[in-house]
Amino acid sequence: MTPCGHRVNTHRNNPPSIPTWQFISNFHVSTENMKQAEIIVIGAGAAGLMAAATLAKAGRKVLVLEARDRTGGRIHTIRNEQGLPFAELGAEFIHGNLPVTLALLKEAGISYNDTRFEMFHHHEGRIQQGDEPIEGWDELLEKMQQLPADLPLGAFLDQHFAGDQYAGMREEITAFVNGYDTASLSDVSTFAIRSEWEHEDDEAQHRVTAGYGAMIRYLEEVCIKGGGEIVLQQEVERIDWAEATAMVHTRDRQVYQAGKVVLALPLGVLQQPDTLRLHPAIPGYTAALHDIGFGAIIKILLQFASPFWMEDAAFGNPAFPGNTTRLVVSGETVPTYWTQTTPGSTLLTGWLGGPPAWNLRTQSPEAILQATLQSLSNIFRQDAGALQAQLTGWRVVNWTNDPFTRGSYAYDKVPSSAARKVLQQPVAGKLYFAGEYLYEGPAMGTVEAALTSGMQVAEKILLKDTPVA
Ligand SMILES: Cc1cc2nc3c(=O)[nH]c(=O)nc-3n(C[C@H](O)[C@H](O)[C@H](O)COP(=O)(O)OP(=O)(O)OC[C@H]3O[C@@H](n4cnc5c(N)ncnc54)[C@H](O)[C@@H]3O)c2cc1C
Repeated sequence: MTPCGHRVNTHRNNPPSIPTWQFISNFHVSTENMKQAEIIVIGAGAAGLMAAATLAKAGRKVLVLEARDRTGGRIHTIRNEQGLPFAELGAEFIHGNLPVTLALLKEAGISYNDTRFEMFHHHEGRIQQGDEPIEGWDELLEKMQQLPADLPLGAFLDQHFAGDQYAGMREEITAFVNGYDTASLSDVSTFAIRSEWEHEDDEAQHRVTAGYGAMIRYLEEVCIKGGGEIVLQQEVERIDWAEATAMVHTRDRQVYQAGKVVLALPLGVLQQPDTLRLHPAIPGYTAALHDIGFGAIIKILLQFASPFWMEDAAFGNPAFPGNTTRLVVSGETVPTYWTQTTPGSTLLTGWLGGPPAWNLRTQSPEAILQATLQSLSNIFRQDAGALQAQLTGWRVVNWTNDPFTRGSYAYDKVPSSAARKVLQQPVAGKLYFAGEYLYEGPAMGTVEAALTSGMQVAEKILLKDTPVA
């Protein structure tokens, strides 16, 4: 039994029962397969589980339907798999003193530790300490401050910094926006990037000591203790909704009926025309979903026999404190790498974001591994074959090609703020959207964003249902 005794895995091979048809509102359903719930949450990521746990704590009967055979979504902590003793395949850091995340960890009694980043860049064949200096940076910030109306960052750079003298600056900004925001310059909002740069908090970074998965387990437990149920391997493909009720249909022909449905799915999934259909369709919401950006990411985990990177004079400098994560950015195919802070760790993480990740998304894991080893070989001046021989475990985590994520995390386009206002409105008091992409605040695209959104949706449901005296 898992820590959550009520967690149920469905039986994919159940023969479909003979349907008995019943007319409910404006759609037909088979009652034979149908299960009832007060509130259904679709998606057991941080947003869905936070919503479910908050509702369950308030005494509401919640059923969570999750497509995968595990909970957590873009949080996935593994231990002793594929030669990796411990690794975060998705979210890894707490990017700042983020109130909802830290309050939840405190409530759960889960510890986290501080991490400080030491930045390096690869330039002219050498690793050098610090960020790559950007020529024209002050002028760029000044022009951004003066910008009267928002426009895509690419168009902004074309307007003000098209000259050859700015080629280096454009390259650096492209690399940063691709790598950090996992976004494309063609549509990322200049105002959003400006605000992100203004709110940067380099000092306060943390990691959950036992991995983010501990937080997911806690949310599951709260949900189950409150009488909730979490059903795995339930890929929802259609929701028929009306004023009276909503019917949720899964790919393997299960049907669930509920008074309310929370859609806690990744934006990348909702943006696909064929993954989840709403009947009747809600055109204003569909348009709004496309007005928010969703980036691309491939994360590569490499376990080596020894930490060869410590041989580099700059990168391996022993003077840094023990809680230092060393991070190097380069112009290679897989450009970014960082280390762990656990003493003796030989895990190196590679990161490829934005359009370059999108372009590689259909490549095999082996091909992406080879590109990664070649990039490392160029950065650390080591033979690629020798690096491969030292490899004791590896995993290419291609979130962009993952059918239940289809990308990385959200970023703002010019119309995103207005789109979020639309999507934050429940549809007929029946359908509610939750997920990191709906968060308003400085921690966009994070676990904090997902938790906040899940909590806010639950509060909205509870507030709406409070009887008026
Ligand atoms: C590689 C990577 C690194 C990251 N690093 C960090 C970091 O260091 N710090 C940080 O704060 N954030 C980080 N993030 C972002 C963070 O992981 C996300 O913002 C957050 O986990 C999203 O939670 P969510 O609940 O909104 O979505 P998800 O976690 O994606 O949950 C959605 C759930 O819906 C399920 N689902 C999808 N389709 C269906 C369907 N048809 N039917 C039923 N269920 C379905 C999915 O399987 C999933 O479980 C990272 C993300 C990635 C991809």
